[in-house]
Amino acid sequence: MFDHVFRPCDIGGLTLPHRIVMGAMHLNLETLDDGGAALAAFYTERVRGGAGLIVTGGSAVNRAGAGGPGYGVLDDANHRSVLRRAARAVHDADGLIALQLFHAGRYALPGGHGDDDGTPLAPSAVYSRFSRTVPRAMTEEEIAGTVADFARAARTARELGFDAVEVMGSEGYLLNQFTAPLTNRRSDRWGADADGRVRMPVEVLRAVRAAVGPAFPVLFRMSGADLVTDGTPWKETAALAVALAEAGADALAVGVGWHESPVPTVQAQVPPGTWAVYAEEVKRALRAAGHGHLPVIASNRFNQIAQADEALAGGDIDLVAMARPFLADAAVVGKSRAGRGASVELCIACNEACIDRSFGAERVSCLVNPRAGHEREFPRFPARHSPVRRGRYAVVGAGLAGLEAARTLAGLGHAVEVYEAADQPGGQFRMAARVPGKADFGETIRRRVRELDELRVPVRLGHRIGLRDVPLLRTMDGVIVASGVRPRRPELSGHTLPHVLDYSQAFADPDALGGRVVVIGGGGIAVDLAHLLTSRSPAAVTPGEFLASHAVATPSQPVPVTGRTSGRPADSPRQVTVMRRGGRIGTGIGASTRWVVMEELRAAGVRLLTGVVYQEITREGVIVVDAGGNRRLVEADHVVLAVGQESERDVVGTLRRAGVPFETAGGVAGTEGLNAVRATAQGLRAAHRV
Ligand code: SF4
Repeated sequence: MFDHVFRPCDIGGLTLPHRIVMGAMHLNLETLDDGGAALAAFYTERVRGGAGLIVTGGSAVNRAGAGGPGYGVLDDANHRSVLRRAARAVHDADGLIALQLFHAGRYALPGGHGDDDGTPLAPSAVYSRFSRTVPRAMTEEEIAGTVADFARAARTARELGFDAVEVMGSEGYLLNQFTAPLTNRRSDRWGADADGRVRMPVEVLRAVRAAVGPAFPVLFRMSGADLVTDGTPWKETAALAVALAEAGADALAVGVGWHESPVPTVQAQVPPGTWAVYAEEVKRALRAAGHGHLPVIASNRFNQIAQADEALAGGDIDLVAMARPFLADAAVVGKSRAGRGASVELCIACNEACIDRSFGAERVSCLVNPRAGHEREFPRFPARHSPVRRGRYAVVGAGLAGLEAARTLAGLGHAVEVYEAADQPGGQFRMAARVPGKADFGETIRRRVRELDELRVPVRLGHRIGLRDVPLLRTMDGVIVASGVRPRRPELSGHTLPHVLDYSQAFADPDALGGRVVVIGGGGIAVDLAHLLTSRSPAAVTPGEFLASHAVATPSQPVPVTGRTSGRPADSPRQVTVMRRGGRIGTGIGASTRWVVMEELRAAGVRLLTGVVYQEITREGVIVVDAGGNRRLVEADHVVLAVGQESERDVVGTLRRAGVPFETAGGVAGTEGLNAVRATAQGLRAAHRV
């Protein structure tokens, strides 16, 4: 099984046990004040789960190169000792680790370092929408200094015990900024023409190679497609690949897209495997120049080993880098190798606990695996949960929080029973699984239920806990209440009319809604519902369809990038209006995803009204006073209320009155700031607390 993945591969002098590389992730563990303990534990668990070569998150080669406040800088002795510990931990577990050498350039976020006054440095002073700054153009001296810093950083990596380095030259960071006409407007030898624009990455690689000698493996992560207007032309990308091969690279990893790209690259809407085409083209360019032996690594949107195997079977790539799947399941490789792929926790590309956090200072974790990044805090076999004494626990509620609590307790060796009032598990998360592009969300619930089945945890559906259950619950060692939430129904005039539904009713039977729908409320649920109501086909989009619909060029299909973020026609079967009193529509959706879904709503013709005062729901629709003070009717066949939730606390009252002690997790513990990431994390914590 997965014969293409599970074959060894050489990169420089390293022999990798298989063709999956754990791609670089910035975790915000790198700068914790714990001497690197959390980072070492994170990597160790991944090596034990089958990771071969791990590429670290980027370490800045100098202070100006730090991407934000959570980035370590190689000049800093503390950071070096964190890295040394991480490398040692990986080796102790028999793994391999490469240090990514990083310079953010104009993508340095506030709180990073920039130059002496905090201004980011870049080839030219071109405003960045990502960091919302105008960087300062580097002097020739600063460019030469940065080349030398990359070289010094590589030598440091070798001294710290790393097995390899990866030079970061994609995703719109400094070296990629040099290759793109958009951001390189220099007229000196570091710009001006095609040769000038590739000079910086090539010089960096030459300097790195000279610093570490011929035997130390050096990978280079280059951009296969910038996906921005005036990005690196394909001919120059191909020339760069060849030049890097000639300058001594041992492998080329191929990324795509910039943070300012109008085309989504890593969101749930992107079909897995979409971007492999660019790695394949790089390989062809290398072959044409006589460098076909050089390993090429595809990356960006693979979430299952089977997809990697299929891509490798084509023969035009040599390895696949996967990053977020290692957050979702540390044993993604080991389980797949053992034929247990169905038990792998699937990364659903929500980005909520990983990419969105990586732009700030919060510790990166995972929605479907809240232990990620907290391996020391929640060890697999904590002393106080000794298997010597097997306890009995009840979990009330089979939404995300309850399922997480139940699997954690069962994994710790306890006997667990789950009680769910509804006739299906999954709680509110089941609604998200119906939204186009979010089919994998349903997989999370299915896999969790299967896992509980394997752990012999009964899930009693349709069982609402009441007084009659109290005697049973008194016999338990602990009870966790995760009974979730119910939709809030505001006291708005007309809310009891028959054509007014709450969001859970609308999700349950969207086909029953008429041609004109008003959704009151503007959070993530309202946006998801609007998306569901306006999509015509639930069929998954293929990579080819995705690229065509976003007018994305590939070397063999040179359609220009137009800047259009969604090529989907406005073919909505309904006219949907989403309205809210204040704030933006889609608050609560992570920054890396919100813009994508908002573009899709606009493309589907959804009307977005903010700053309105709802006055009354009538049989004809909703009467509002708009931002201009005008009173008007927004016509609707159905009105859906998506204005928040209330905790489902009936069980809490019952247990309190009966004097049964319990812990809470998820929406029942409070709805302020509630989301799926918080719910699963609370389920995990409750299981360790109870
Ligand atoms: Fe994947 Fe979401 Fe977990 Fe990130 S938080 S690793 S995107 S499932």
